[in-house]
Amino acid sequence: MFPSITKAIQDIKQGKMVIVVDDETRENEGDLIMAAKFITPEKFAFMHDCGRGLICVPMEKERAKKLNLWPIVPDDLNTEFTKCKFMVSVDYKNPKSEIRNPKLDEYKTGVSFVARTRTIQKLANPKVNADNFVRPGHITPLVADNWGVLARDGHTEAAVDLVRLSGIAPRVAVLVEILKKDGAIARGQYLKTFARKYGLTLITIAELADYRKCNEKLVERAASAHLPTRFGKFIVHIYKERITGKEHVALVMGSIDNNTPVLTRVHSRCLTGDVFHSLRCDCDSQLHFALETIAKRGVGVLVYLNQEGRDIGLTDKIKSYALQERGLDTVEANIRLGYKPDMRVYHIGTQILRDLGVSKMELMTNNPKKIVGLEQYGLEIVRRVPIVIESNEHNRKYLSVKRDKLGHLLH
Ligand SMILES: [Zn+2]
Repeated sequence: MFPSITKAIQDIKQGKMVIVVDDETRENEGDLIMAAKFITPEKFAFMHDCGRGLICVPMEKERAKKLNLWPIVPDDLNTEFTKCKFMVSVDYKNPKSEIRNPKLDEYKTGVSFVARTRTIQKLANPKVNADNFVRPGHITPLVADNWGVLARDGHTEAAVDLVRLSGIAPRVAVLVEILKKDGAIARGQYLKTFARKYGLTLITIAELADYRKCNEKLVERAASAHLPTRFGKFIVHIYKERITGKEHVALVMGSIDNNTPVLTRVHSRCLTGDVFHSLRCDCDSQLHFALETIAKRGVGVLVYLNQEGRDIGLTDKIKSYALQERGLDTVEANIRLGYKPDMRVYHIGTQILRDLGVSKMELMTNNPKKIVGLEQYGLEIVRRVPIVIESNEHNRKYLSVKRDKLGHLLH
């Protein structure tokens, strides 16, 4: 899985550059990225001449702290649209022994390619500390979020993630946006041709995030206890997301065997349906169907994901209901509120299931996207168990929109 990411990590480890593209709804840019440790004046010249954007040095927070670098605009005053964290610019401080050496004149002002290359190398050198730099200078460091692309889908985070994944420390990278000869932002086909011409691996930030979601443990089991219910006796496990602290629930009945497909339901929270039995949707019927079916079989898992209203949250879900009362359907209402039709993600569900020892499933769902979502992160779905729900006068339209616009399979 993820051959291009594996290749990119290998390239970074070997000191090569890769091209990283962000989402087309974000900056929609391609950046040349490499580990700062391996920069040379030749590679710097390539970034300058062929990349043409702003050459910056992304690093992890810890390194920036050690180098005593501070943001040029404090977080609460940062009005840049992606909240990019530019730090105070620096140059490597020329040692006294070099200052009067005419052979080393190129280093004097800090702007030459050799001088800027040296500054970058020193930023990545663990033996070099804050006192070895002058401020301001000709190199701008950037600081990445601690959780990398899983917290912020920017090139800064992608660069530091790639360096971390390739095992290099401290985690310091170099990046530059790729611009065309006329200075316009390079996109799509231009970037693909550029990558082919120079033999560079091209990846997207979304792929890098998926790679991490698949390979890193992002949930922790926080508590477990017995939970007798009117459907039968379950064990309840609470899982906490490591990044957000968000809590999710798993109900397990019987003992799970790794080799046998486990009857599974991955259910997204719906307070109005699950608790108040709202007739606007079919969530409580699906939940009850799942618990009853598991109880009948005696073995199974229900993962209850804390993503209310297709993950737009309770307030916006109710706002969406209000819009639907004015004639919009569920998909149109979500789009009006600034969301994609379905914001839910399934990698957390997959990680919970894996932690419980589930690898093969009989999945109770009518949503083909959920099948793709769970299989994408390495679970095998051997059979889909359809959930048969009778529609009522309140949810008939909602169910038909789910079928026609979201691709749900109804029976
Ligand atoms: Zn619902």
